[in-house]
Amino acid sequence: MKKFVKILSMTVAAAIMAVTFTACADSSSSSDSKSGGSIKFGTNAEFPPFEYVVSKGVIGEFDGIDMAIAKQIGEDNNKEAKIENMEFDSLLVALDNGKIDAAIAGMTVTDERKEKVDFSEPYYNAKQVMIVKEDSNIAKASDMSDKKIVVIQGYTGETCVKKLGFSYQSFKKGTEAIMELVNGKCDVVVIDSATADKYVKDNKGLKVVEDNKEFENEEYAIAVKKGNKELLDEINKSIKKMKEDGKINELAAKYADATNS
Ligand code: GLN
Repeated sequence: MKKFVKILSMTVAAAIMAVTFTACADSSSSSDSKSGGSIKFGTNAEFPPFEYVVSKGVIGEFDGIDMAIAKQIGEDNNKEAKIENMEFDSLLVALDNGKIDAAIAGMTVTDERKEKVDFSEPYYNAKQVMIVKEDSNIAKASDMSDKKIVVIQGYTGETCVKKLGFSYQSFKKGTEAIMELVNGKCDVVVIDSATADKYVKDNKGLKVVEDNKEFENEEYAIAVKKGNKELLDEINKSIKKMKEDGKINELAAKYADATNS
């Protein structure tokens, strides 16, 4: 009888241990699926050469400089880089509510955005420029005052035109804005430099006009939820490496020339 009780109590103890272990394993696997194993990057794949959709891209159907950077960040940290495509305006909210872990979208670091999210080290320098028809007489930002201006909603280009005090129309997609210009429905599109170069390369009859006095330099960085230091450290380590070994310059050159966007 005594022996039986002992065996029984050992069995109970083993069962308790098993339950405990299972509980531990469970909690670690659920936190694993949240942060480890993969990094969910949010983007707005309407911004060539940084992110756009093709039939076969560097991550699924997504291609571009940012997408290749995201993939490398994943590889450097033994995690799978996943892409969640959404509107540019939704990215910061998606970070806040945990729908995505990081936002990589040619996103300019601004004081206003810094209040909502934490930014990585910058990885690319840009500025706003004007895209006009080849025969346009717009030569500087102030020349836009009496012109039909188009911007993309929520982009820093919109902020710049607002600051100038000019009225404008905003579109959700860069391609829509460019079509307005190509079809003669507007006179100028204000957008980021590398993207402007790409649109001008891909559409006949357009040119880029710069105004470096009016438009300040901008820096692109990756955003994470405020306080997510662990992920930010991983991202920063990877960006530092890619800046040092020339990978980012290499990608910028490669995608500026790509014809499939
Ligand atoms: N750099 C601009 C911004 O941050 C545009 C970014 C984008 O369209 N993806 O607003």
